[in-house]
Amino acid sequence: DRLDDSERALIARREKVLGPAYRLFYEKPLHLVRGEGVFLYDVAGEKYLDAYNNVASLGHCHPRVVEAITKQTAILNTHTRYLHEGIVDYAETLTETFPDTLSQAMFTCTGSEANDLAVRIARFVTGGTGIIATELAYHGLTSAVAEFSPSLGESVTLGPHVRTVPSPDAYRNSPEEVMEKFGRDVCAAIADLKRHGIKPAMLVTDTIFSSDGIFAGPKGFLKPAVDAIHEAGGLFVADEVQPGFGRTGETMWGFERHGVSPDMVTIGKPMGNGYPMAGIVLRPEIIAEFGPRARYFNTFGGNPVAAAAGKAVLDAIRIDGLQHNALDVGRYLMDGLMSLSHTAIGDVRGSGLFIGVEIVSDTATKRPDAALTTRIVNGLRERRILISASGPNANILKIRPPLVFAREHADMLLSALDDVLNTA
Ligand code: PMP
Repeated sequence: DRLDDSERALIARREKVLGPAYRLFYEKPLHLVRGEGVFLYDVAGEKYLDAYNNVASLGHCHPRVVEAITKQTAILNTHTRYLHEGIVDYAETLTETFPDTLSQAMFTCTGSEANDLAVRIARFVTGGTGIIATELAYHGLTSAVAEFSPSLGESVTLGPHVRTVPSPDAYRNSPEEVMEKFGRDVCAAIADLKRHGIKPAMLVTDTIFSSDGIFAGPKGFLKPAVDAIHEAGGLFVADEVQPGFGRTGETMWGFERHGVSPDMVTIGKPMGNGYPMAGIVLRPEIIAEFGPRARYFNTFGGNPVAAAAGKAVLDAIRIDGLQHNALDVGRYLMDGLMSLSHTAIGDVRGSGLFIGVEIVSDTATKRPDAALTTRIVNGLRERRILISASGPNANILKIRPPLVFAREHADMLLSALDDVLNTA
């Protein structure tokens, strides 16, 4: 499976014109030309099982979304300063999926912009500047958001107003410890901000802790942390860009699994099943003063085509029962992963169709095995199955298929993984 001349030529053209910031997945990059449901097809017509893409949550090129986008594109696409039913219908349908307290929505095009706006609002509302995030969080790429996205590594300096807390690692700590420790760590971060004369503005977490290494439980460990930031006069922002829209199976939104009430929820990725859209759902009190003063406008965010795409996504999740499917197939897949009694599998964790598998060289010492993880990811790619890896040591298999994944697809993944583990 070596690169052919045309692939080498395309890679060279790409590097010449896109420059060095653009990276490709895999030792042998994929050249995809088409997608349908849970499958992707390369230029040679080979079919790949997509167990990684959390944007095309309904499956690639879902007909309902394609139709909604093409239909609305042919009629009207302007912005949010004209009266239009689309954005209102969509915002009503969207906010209905949230607890009653979260009843207003604002729209952006990317998750980064949503988190950027959340920071501005939090600072305005609280009068503080301090931000608490997890040790390996990713919240986006704007200058303000990169300052609290430590997973960007040394290329970005964390803001002087930013404090990080350790990931809620229930593999290396007991669940009881995590339950108690996460809140305690957030309290310590709040105290440290105050000691430096910085008033806390917000605690922000991805509620499934994807880039930290996927930490789904124990359910409820967020509660003491959220209580602490509220007591300190700050807001809690739930970043649902990855876990949201039913992926975690048990609930539509990841924060609901923890029984907490966010002040703002940022959403994105699967929101338009590939059409770029994102936003914030918030408590109306939060925006009451900021809103009239802010002159907030986003040229593309919430336009009629975005609203049509978003509505089609929510309809499909409901009509096709995708949250339930995520729960059902997710459990089946997790059970299957746990029964792969291979010595390299240290931990299987997750919720719904958001699953992490920790690869270790020794289950007793729990030492991460990044090299084996890379071989597994590439070995699966050779068997035409797509996943990736995450975590501080790049040793956690990240399995995040479209929500239309069926048991037969889980079986394909399980048998290929078993095969790879026995040969890698
Ligand atoms: N928050 C989280 C948790 C994310 O995973 C991402 C994207 N990986 C973002 C925010 C930023 O979203 P976007 O790439 O749309 O700006």
